[in-house]
Amino acid sequence: MIQISEKCVGCGKCTTVCPFGALSLVNRKAVASAACTMCGACVSQCPVKALSLPQTGAAKKDLSAYKGVWVFIEIANDGRTQKVRPVGFELLSKGRELATQLGEELCAVVIGYGTQPFAAELSQYGTDKIYFVDGPAYGQYNTIAYANALVTLIEKYKPSVVLYPSTYVGRDLSPRISSQLFVGLTADCTGLSIKEGNLIQTRPAFGGNIMADIKCPDYRPQMSTVRPNVFKKVVTTPGRIAAIVTENIPVPPQAAKVRVVNTHMDPPASGMKLDEAEVVIAGGRGMKNKAGFDLLEDLATQLGGTVGASRAAIDLGLKPKEQQIGQSGVTVSAKLYVACGISGAVQHVVGMEHSDVIIGINKDANAPIFNVCKYGLVGDASQILPKILEQLKK
Ligand code: FAD
Ligand code: SF4
Ligand code: SF4
Repeated sequence: MIQISEKCVGCGKCTTVCPFGALSLVNRKAVASAACTMCGACVSQCPVKALSLPQTGAAKKDLSAYKGVWVFIEIANDGRTQKVRPVGFELLSKGRELATQLGEELCAVVIGYGTQPFAAELSQYGTDKIYFVDGPAYGQYNTIAYANALVTLIEKYKPSVVLYPSTYVGRDLSPRISSQLFVGLTADCTGLSIKEGNLIQTRPAFGGNIMADIKCPDYRPQMSTVRPNVFKKVVTTPGRIAAIVTENIPVPPQAAKVRVVNTHMDPPASGMKLDEAEVVIAGGRGMKNKAGFDLLEDLATQLGGTVGASRAAIDLGLKPKEQQIGQSGVTVSAKLYVACGISGAVQHVVGMEHSDVIIGINKDANAPIFNVCKYGLVGDASQILPKILEQLKK
């Protein structure tokens, strides 16, 4: 929580800037509540420098005590069935490489209810150990409960690296943990490697125009989030069963502040998740209107895929925001990716370039999309697509 010193003169300036409403004046002195996330936004606003964030040097003291690469495994639960989100396997595969380079263990952390049957599936990606925090209280994702469980485990076992999926859950959970542990967090990494014992976290910066290498040499654990489909999943130890550690961590009372009363899944039009689809038909501004996107829907149906879009097409209202592919949307890694009327801006390409076979359809022969395509068709998509559909339907 933010620290407020005796210097406070009760001017109230800080109370107006706190985005979480955590500051109030009591008896003409600033008082912080438990809602403080230690974002630091208030610190510079105080005219008498009465506000400060608590400093911790705990992790800095002995870095050698921190060992092992951990992956937080997200369990997808639609209320009826549950499964490991595939991004967990991708992170374990990359984690295996990192752990081998470090000469340390690869561990998976699973929080949920009835999750132990996933042990065999998780073990085949080279996992040495799986920590299970399992119980009815963990059946539904709860930020406070899950963060408390992970912080407890991290403080007890001291991993050197912790990787999270850059999903809604991972993006909600990981900053909470980094602020509680006073360590850094690099979001949406596109590359991870080891150099001189440190994790090198590569991610796009300045609108995707440069790739930045980020390291955290003074603190542990080093923490990153990675989007689905950035790394390939590689089974390295089929048939192996990792060592199992079950931890009984009580849910803190504050977790009761949030109660899930209903879960509503909004499926994409074709019922297939974009980041898990093997065939993606993507449309850009060049598809122009609904009739253009109807052709893409038809092609997706014929090929058993789903339809995504560039940001320009999303901005035109041709698809919902969830279907955006690229830097500020979803990353896909399809077996077949067809880009129709998409120019190939770098912000789009970073979200689809890992696909196996990319086909571009564009009326401009010099469009940058052709630089990443295996096959390119130069021409008007509204004329080319009906011909392809005609052949497919035959
Ligand atoms: P355009 O660039 O306008 O290209 C349209 C293409 O269609 C042209 O190449 C044209 O030749 C072709 N065309 C026109 N008519 C036809 C036709 N009849 N038949 C065939 N081809 C035709 N973009 C994303 O997609 N995803 C992101 O996540 C994303 N994030 C961004 C984040 C930031 C910080 C910024 C600054 C930008 C981001 N963008 C993103 C936007 C990106 O820079 C481009 O503006 C966008 O990708 C362009 O979309 P487009 O290719 O559909 O449109
Ligand atoms: Fe509010 Fe952030 Fe200051 Fe905490 S650190 S009181 S959350 S502005
Ligand atoms: Fe006190 Fe500083 Fe907040 Fe003013 S801005 S109420 S002096 S802590």
